[in-house]
Order: sequence, then C-alpha cells, then structure tokens
Amino acid sequence: MVSLLRQRGIQNPALLQAFSDVPREQFVLPEQLSSAYADSALPIECGQTISQPFIVALMIDAARINPEDHVLEVGTGSGYAAAILSRIARRVISLERIPELADLAQNRLQAGGYDNVEVKCCDGTLGWPQAAPYQAILVAAAAPEVPRTLCDQLTIGGRLIIPAGPDPNHQQLLCVTRTGPQQFKEKILDQVRFVPLIGEAGWDEED
Ligand code: SAM
Repeated sequence: MVSLLRQRGIQNPALLQAFSDVPREQFVLPEQLSSAYADSALPIECGQTISQPFIVALMIDAARINPEDHVLEVGTGSGYAAAILSRIARRVISLERIPELADLAQNRLQAGGYDNVEVKCCDGTLGWPQAAPYQAILVAAAAPEVPRTLCDQLTIGGRLIIPAGPDPNHQQLLCVTRTGPQQFKEKILDQVRFVPLIGEAGWDEED
C-alpha cells in the first residue's frame, strides 16, 4: 500500500506511516478481504463504499494536517479514513448519517484503539458546530456545491477538502482555504467520482 502511494506521488512521511500502521483489512467486508490492499474503492454495508486509498491519501495530504490539529470528517463510512486521520491529528470528529454505519465504525475504531476519534450520527452537511473551529474538514461524499456551513466551521487558514459539482457522476475535488473571516480561496485538486452527500446542504435523498 505504502509503495503504491509513493509511486503515485504521496511523499508526506507521517501520512505514509499512518497507512502502514492502519490495517485496511479490518475495515472491509469479509468477502472483500482479498482486495483490501487494492487501490480501489470497495463496497461496504448499507450500499456505501470505503474510498480508494490513493484518494484518501490525496485528500489528507492536501489538508496539510499537523499533529496538534482538530479535524472534522464528513462521511465516516467504514471508519478507515478516520483511523488514518487519528494517527496524524490530535482529535478527529467523524460524522455519518446512516446509524448502522456509524455504530459499526465506532465499534471498529474503539476495538482498534483509535481513542482520539469520535463518531457522531447526524447530517454532516451542517458540520458539527459544537466543536468548531477545525484546522481541516474532509468530506468523503459529493456535494452539489460547497456547503457554506462547513466553510464557516474552519479556522482562519483552515482547509476544506470536498468533491463538489452539479453532475452526480463526476465532481471536482476542491481545496477551499479560509483566508479571512469572510474570504475563501478555492483550488481544484483532481477529477473524481464519489457517492452523494445527502442532507440539508447536499443532495435530496430522492435524487
Ligand atoms: N471515509 C469513508 C471510509 O473511510 O470508509 C468512506 C466514506 S463513503 C465514500 C461516504 C459516506 O458518506 C457514506 O457512508 C455515506 O453514508 C456518508 N454520507 C452521505 N451523506 C452524508 C451526510 N450528510 N452526513 C454524514 N455522512 C454522509
């Protein structure tokens, strides 16, 4: 996994160490064990996916996370990205809208000793204002547009990494940096395809 990420240009030593420390096989379905270390998204419970490792690495790398940082993840899914984040940040709050996935991920993370991660079951398009601001927010599902609620929960200088765009089959992976109280700078990182971010500031469930 680590050499694969290196080959694809990921060089951040702390991030590569986190990928080496967190066993992806503990976050995939039993029938997917033989594919646990493939660089691809895989199906998980409730019709959702565990993201492709390279995309997880790209997003975390772009978020420029420091060991003292307080990080919000939207879209816990299996809990894998939250586990990786827990190895490089001080505290991670991860939001999941599907109660069954939130419970499964919370149990996995507890069993794995990832003690600085808290999973909350809620509509993550609204963020988690109780614990804001965050130095980094990572969104693992695709929004029709960048939710302003999430931008407002960043520290000044904080980074929001999010796939966004009006086409449900194709999005731009964006890095939005908060440069002032009401100022934001946007950069396109890649072209991606994610499952939809469903909620008040995302897609309607019926869509
Ligand atoms: N980071 C995950 C992992 O490591 O396994 C992969 C996340 S999966 C690609 C996207 C997740 O976002 C799904 O579990 C989905 O239920 C969740 N999701 C979609 N809309 C959401 C919302 N409004 N709030 C919280 N979670 C949401």
